[in-house]
Amino acid sequence: MLSMESSLPIRVTASGDPVPAERLAEILADPGFGRYFTDHMFTAEWTPERGWHEARITPYGPLVLDPATAVLHYAQEIFEGMKAYRHADGSIWTFRPEENAARMVRSARRLALPVLPVEDFVASVDATVRVDQRWVPEPAGEKSLYLRPFMFASESFLGVRPAQHVTYMVICSPAGAYFARGVHPVSLWLSETYTRAGRGGMGAAKTGGNYASSLVAQQEAIEEGCDQVVFLDSAEGRYVEELGGMNLYFVQADGTVVTPKTSGTILEGITRSSIIELCGKLGHPVEERAVDIDEWRDGVSSGRIAEVFACGTAAVVTPVGTLRWRGGEVGDGTTTGPVTQQVRTALVDIQYGRAEDTFGWMHRVV
Ligand SMILES: *Cc1c(COP(=O)(O)O)cnc(C)c1O
Repeated sequence: MLSMESSLPIRVTASGDPVPAERLAEILADPGFGRYFTDHMFTAEWTPERGWHEARITPYGPLVLDPATAVLHYAQEIFEGMKAYRHADGSIWTFRPEENAARMVRSARRLALPVLPVEDFVASVDATVRVDQRWVPEPAGEKSLYLRPFMFASESFLGVRPAQHVTYMVICSPAGAYFARGVHPVSLWLSETYTRAGRGGMGAAKTGGNYASSLVAQQEAIEEGCDQVVFLDSAEGRYVEELGGMNLYFVQADGTVVTPKTSGTILEGITRSSIIELCGKLGHPVEERAVDIDEWRDGVSSGRIAEVFACGTAAVVTPVGTLRWRGGEVGDGTTTGPVTQQVRTALVDIQYGRAEDTFGWMHRVV
């Protein structure tokens, strides 16, 4: 791929009060997810006159926002989620960062936010990880540094129109396993009350609004004793879309791997698309097509569907143990299937540098 150099100058102001080494070691021993943040953050501003400017890395700290800041009223916010992985030789890498950059461009277009060029996105993430490289954990236990680039309408104005001042930031948070119980099969609650996206809506954009709308459904899942919610299409309430923040895969007994086809209402996960390529290499035929909820329910009961798994950057590949709905349940919920395990291992081995990166997916940062 032809990569262009970023021309955005980045000013770095080092923190005068970095987390002491002993405290950092304690945090990295058990980082959890999204609880601790590194010493620095990246910020850049956009205006129609100046484009992207004032790119800077500064000590991590709170923002001061005018109460009329547009995002607080109209939710023009988009984000990305990616990870920096430390390899055994100490080097630090990200996974397909241009794909996150390209998705942020698509999300920006959908929310009438300005486009951040791919090379500036990658440069912002690289620079931030370099400054806070001591926060990238050792690879044991699948630890990583979770990276959260995000963009929001920062103009103070209550009128409804695309913002004339937009802020882009990158923050970083050390991460252990996403699910508290580690890699164990999760249980899913089928939401028949809520949907996450409709035709022409924002389902394919990575935006906070989609998460805001998913929380009540997720709350219902927890109340029903499940870990996560699964959404159906909004038009017919019949086709499987995805979880609140992960895509879905079905492994058929005949060896075919099936994932719901994206057509604007499903978020195009980078883990999802990487698994399509990986399955090809591992010799599993892949089908992207509509999956009827009855195909799932009946398939698990009859054995036609052998495994179900969910995927996304935060939780990588997570087996689905059971599917529950009002009045029924399928799945035994206790084991990780062989294809799920094989795909998971193949992916994390590339990410942590334990397997050859034949796809050219890894990007060296340090
Ligand atoms: C981010 C996200 C995913 C997973 O995408 P990855 O690029 O694989 O991390 C899936 N669904 C939703 C709704 C998401 O926001």
